[in-house]
Amino acid sequence: MTQRADTNYPDEVCGLLSGKEGWVTGHYPITNQLHSERLFFMNPGEMVRAMDLYETRGEELLAIYHSHPNGKGELSKTDIQQDFYPGVVKFILSGEPGNWQGTAWQTSPANPPKEVTWKMLSETN
Ligand SMILES: [Zn+2]
Repeated sequence: MTQRADTNYPDEVCGLLSGKEGWVTGHYPITNQLHSERLFFMNPGEMVRAMDLYETRGEELLAIYHSHPNGKGELSKTDIQQDFYPGVVKFILSGEPGNWQGTAWQTSPANPPKEVTWKMLSETN
């Protein structure tokens, strides 16, 4: 994830994290169709392919991530308004190349986002 954020800087990167029982084991990078420093929109075809793949592997969607280059770890107004998957953790990588921080948020249709704890054990891609 951080490598992609480095490579695509200053554009936002986005993707899906899948796994089982709260353990992330799958990373599915998705193209940000907007190629923007402030907004992202996931390529729908790539999203469908990713979902097929993790379902085949018996995994579920654990988090949707995107980066905030030079930004904060909080969800933006747009992030909250365009939350098409309430209930799924939103993971934000904020910072700049070589120095990204991760923040995870639990969202729901009725309540403001709540920060949740997560732990990085290792990152392979
Ligand atoms: Zn955002």
